[in-house]
Amino acid sequence: EETEPVEDVRPQSPVKPMTATEVKVNVSIPEAAERAAATGADGVGLLRTEHMILSLNRTPAKFIEDEGVDAYVDELVQGIRGVADEFYPRPVRVRTLDAPTDEFRQLEGGEDEPSEHNPMLGYRGIRRSLDRPDVFAHELEAFRRLYDLGYDNVEIMLPLVNDAEDVYRSKRLMEEAGIDPEKRTWGVMIETPASALGVEEMADAGIDFASFGTNDLTQYTLAVDRNNEHVADRFDELHPAVLRLIGDVIERCREHGVDTSICGQAGSKPEMVRFLVNEGISSISANIDAVRDVQHEVKRVEQKLLLDSVR
Ligand code: PEP
Ligand code: MG
Repeated sequence: EETEPVEDVRPQSPVKPMTATEVKVNVSIPEAAERAAATGADGVGLLRTEHMILSLNRTPAKFIEDEGVDAYVDELVQGIRGVADEFYPRPVRVRTLDAPTDEFRQLEGGEDEPSEHNPMLGYRGIRRSLDRPDVFAHELEAFRRLYDLGYDNVEIMLPLVNDAEDVYRSKRLMEEAGIDPEKRTWGVMIETPASALGVEEMADAGIDFASFGTNDLTQYTLAVDRNNEHVADRFDELHPAVLRLIGDVIERCREHGVDTSICGQAGSKPEMVRFLVNEGISSISANIDAVRDVQHEVKRVEQKLLLDSVR
């Protein structure tokens, strides 16, 4: 017996609310790009490049030794390109390599990595890149090639900077790699109290944005190891000291025409979203699964601000 097809009259998923604060998405593995783009996010607030490297199962030095520099640059170009394609023309903020030595040590070639008593306070992020400008140059070469290919939606984000000195040195290396910092969008992560307190000097150095890496900013402000279960109950991104640093940076950046955003885990938490929108942050980047909720929370807070302003 034939049956009539039943018409699907269920309501469509709610449309993305329009908000003044941009809502972006974090992408840790390039394979998640399609799903991330489907959230309707305004761009990628953090694309981690570590996975592209760690999935090679070799340290960059070992990979380059085995396969050559061109193959290394190719890996980076292809990994970033997949995400940049998926989001084009929405911006994709790509973070330069930030793997602590203890993660590199587990890879082939890792025996050559320094053994550190405290890797989280050690040789990682921009410190490593500035210490080995010859290796960092390969990463910057990947960015230059992406720009040559027309991916003008790619942005460069520098991790674990402490001060303007870090920024000026990075900028010089970008220029040496054939990247025009005036033409491209680039900026820093705010992950240390020093970077928060010195954000004005970094603004003078020419950054376009400052993005809160609250996982590290909380760890370093409170001196609470983010991976230590014994102090996990003290790891609080909403601690008044952390919020004060964040609020001050947003204000300083607004005065200097620098965009602000968040790309740490806390950007997916409603309490943090409320605080940030009230402070006037430019964009919030959330985990894929949290994007929709954050969009709605941002909308609610913006509407309340609007109502309060006319009362
Ligand atoms: C952060 O520190 O908040 C951040 C986004 O970087 P990661 O978690 O990769 O250290
Ligand atoms: Mg970090």
